[in-house]
Amino acid sequence: MGAAPLILVSNDDGIHSEGIAALAEALRSLGEVVVAAPDRERSAVSHSLTLHRPLRVEELGPGRYAIDGTPTDCVNLAVNGILRARRPTLVVSGINKGANLGDDVTYSGTVSAAMEGTLLGIPSIAISAIGRDRFRFDVAADFATRLAAWVMERGLPPDTLLNVNVPVPVDGKPLDGYVLTRMGRRRYGDAIIEKVDPRGKKYYWIGGDEVEVDAEEGTDFRAIRDGRISVTPIHLDLTNYKSFDALQALVLPWP
Ligand code: MN
Repeated sequence: MGAAPLILVSNDDGIHSEGIAALAEALRSLGEVVVAAPDRERSAVSHSLTLHRPLRVEELGPGRYAIDGTPTDCVNLAVNGILRARRPTLVVSGINKGANLGDDVTYSGTVSAAMEGTLLGIPSIAISAIGRDRFRFDVAADFATRLAAWVMERGLPPDTLLNVNVPVPVDGKPLDGYVLTRMGRRRYGDAIIEKVDPRGKKYYWIGGDEVEVDAEEGTDFRAIRDGRISVTPIHLDLTNYKSFDALQALVLPWP
């Protein structure tokens, strides 16, 4: 009999977040869990990799590493460095505090940690809990565990990660299951807030309010609106194959 499978857990909310603790705890029922996560919140850092300064690792406890880098750094460093002698069977990133739906996926550090796992050839899952003031991580942790067990047994299609979003149970009612979805679109207002600092210099704050959501049938937004867990398979090949025909017509003068 082989050793218990090794599961690598990371996130972008930082190693001290409540969501990663709930996730790591739940996944321990499936194997050995190693946590390698940013030492502070690094939300919305996308897939950035630190190349111009050294990275420091602090072992906070057995199998628990705080890294002063991005979520991508954490997964890369864990797989290629800390765990070099023993390859993880699965990477799970989360549980993020807040949604990672539609276009927001492109900014997400949570999803990017799973992207890094995928690039390293390890089946990977990103999971986020949606909430307003209060977040409940128990439902997401439970679903993550069941999904992780399935993925460890069956694997995932090549170059594909699963991006999971768990809605808030309304009035304590159980969620209406889960559904495979595609990414929807969210349009933000163009509001840039311009203010003046105490020294008289202008500063800006990005973060327009949401103005419109494409919650068409089949999208991740629709699933959440319907009170269902959304599971979106995300492919790392960003090529728009459907555009080839239109772009064949593109004729540039060539000297
Ligand atoms: Mn986050």
